[in-house]
Amino acid sequence: MKFSGKNVLITGASKGIGAQIAQTLASYGLKVWINYRSKIEEAEAVKELIEKSGGTAAIIKADVTIEEEFVNAIKTIIDSDGELSYLVNNAGITKDKLALRMSVEDFTSVLDANLTSAFIGCREALKVMGKKRFGSIVNISSIVGEMGNPGQTNYSASKGGLNAMTKSFAKEASSRNIRYNAVTPGFIQTDMTNLLKDEVKAEYEKNIPLSRFGNPSEIADAVAFLLSDHSSYITGEILKVNGGLYV
Ligand code: NAP
Repeated sequence: MKFSGKNVLITGASKGIGAQIAQTLASYGLKVWINYRSKIEEAEAVKELIEKSGGTAAIIKADVTIEEEFVNAIKTIIDSDGELSYLVNNAGITKDKLALRMSVEDFTSVLDANLTSAFIGCREALKVMGKKRFGSIVNISSIVGEMGNPGQTNYSASKGGLNAMTKSFAKEASSRNIRYNAVTPGFIQTDMTNLLKDEVKAEYEKNIPLSRFGNPSEIADAVAFLLSDHSSYITGEILKVNGGLYV
């Protein structure tokens, strides 16, 4: 796959989908900045895997819900590399509960983690990429932002908002040759879905036309395409990667 840019920041890349995106993008020759919040040993393990395969990676700590930390992380990257070519806003959390039992704190904390953090990233990327008139951003959204899900009013609102925000950024930034797209994964095997009870997982699987949960690498491949030169005429797109569960 062809990339005109040089480096990429992936938020929440210490495990799960983010860690796989980091490995996939490094395999295409990009320098990968692995963002982590709490567990440096997980981030180091991802870096080691990348370096063992011949790739280049660096680690950057930031809680992306804290504006100052996220902005400083991007500043550190610019100071080191002179540019940021690509950004993947991947960090996200769930706090599932039926709406009747959900506190406002449960609601806003998920919005902060999944939507406000991505806003900060998209805005800062526009500032730094705008100077070079080149860049591409992919936001990791969710099928739930498109179809809703019981127990996830907070999560679905955050991801639905992320889809709409991606389109608005795409419209604001296109004159500067910066593209914004989102990927909406269905159910993917990670710690996030390991939280689901086995019977709930089995029920979901029954409804997935491809009859299985996806792998993180299947999301990473879609992200790589949307960042790469191969999607140079695609912006404002919300790409479903869900095994046919929502079409
Ligand atoms: P995961 O295994 O729980 O990993 C989430 C990652 O995000 C962790 O590295 C976590 O770091 C990091 N993170 C969370 N809050 C952060 C913050 N404030 N600052 C920096 N890092 C933070 O989840 P995943 O399944 O890989 O999910 C990745 C993304 O895909 C999320 O946006 C999620 O909503 C989306 N998604 C997942 C699925 C799925 O089925 N798995 C489906 C649709 C969409 P810590 O360990 O330090 O918390």
